[in-house]
Amino acid sequence: MIEVAGLSFAYRTASGIVRALDKVSLRIPSRAVTAIMGPSGCGKSTLLAILAGYERGQEGLYLYDGLDVFALNRRELSAFRKRETGMIFQNYNLFDQMTVHENLSLAVRYRHGQGNREFLDHCLKRVHLEDYGPRLAGELSGGERQRVAIARCLAGEVRTVLADEPTGALDPGNREAVLAELKQLAESGRTVIIATHDEKAARRADVIIRMEEGHVGSIEDPEGKTAHPGHDHGLAFPAAGSRAGYR
Ligand code: ADP
Ligand code: MG
Repeated sequence: MIEVAGLSFAYRTASGIVRALDKVSLRIPSRAVTAIMGPSGCGKSTLLAILAGYERGQEGLYLYDGLDVFALNRRELSAFRKRETGMIFQNYNLFDQMTVHENLSLAVRYRHGQGNREFLDHCLKRVHLEDYGPRLAGELSGGERQRVAIARCLAGEVRTVLADEPTGALDPGNREAVLAELKQLAESGRTVIIATHDEKAARRADVIIRMEEGHVGSIEDPEGKTAHPGHDHGLAFPAAGSRAGYR
C-alpha cells in the first residue's frame, strides 16, 4: 500500500514558482492497477516521479508499505528505487541500437546483477514476445517496444511499476494489448500505477484517482481496494468500500 498525505511540490522557474502538487492525499493499493487520471498539466508526471523515488516532496508524507520514503538519505533512496520501482514512458526509453536481450540485461545488471538468457526469455514470454530477444529495439513497432519496456520491469523484478502515459503513442489495438499486459502484472502481484489523460485507459483500472490542477478531485474505488485495515488514519482516509477490514 502506498499512502501519501499533504504532499506538495513546486518547481522553481525563471518566471516564478509553479505549484505542481498542492496538498495531495491518496492511497494506492498493492497488487492492483490504479489510474492517475487528469488533463495535461495537472501534476500526474510529477506525482509519478515522486512515487518512483526520483523526486522528493517539499511537504507531506509518503509511506511505501509503511516505509517513510522522504526520510531516506540519498543512498537509501537510490537503493529504494533499484529495489522497488520501475518506470514505463510514453516514448518507451529503450536503447534502440541494442537488442531486446541487451535492453533487458542492462536492467537486470542495474537492479540485481543476475539473470541468464533463459530468465530474459521467460520475461519476454510473459509479454508474448518470446522470439524477440535478438532483434534491435529500434526496429520494433510501438506496441512491441512498450511490451519490451514492461518485460524490462519484469526482468528488474521491481514490485511497483509506474507507467507515464504508456498508451499515449499507440493505436487502439496496441493500447488494448499493453493495458492487458499491465493488468497481468498486477494479477501476478505487482502494484501498477498508470498516469493517463485517456478516459478509456483509466476505465480499465481497479482504482481511478482523478486529479485537477495539482490536487485530487475524486477517487473511484468500486471494490474498496484502498481501504486499509492495518492503519488507523482516522478522518484523512475514510474507508472507501464495504469490504474494509477484510482484505
Ligand atoms: P502532467 O503530467 O499531468 O501533464 P506535470 O506533472 O508534467 O503534469 O506538470 C505539472 C505542472 O508542473 C505543470 O504546470 C507543468 O508546466 C509544471 N512542470 C512540470 N515539469 C516542470 C519542470 N521541470 N520545470 C518547471 N515546471 C514544470
Ligand atoms: Mg505528464
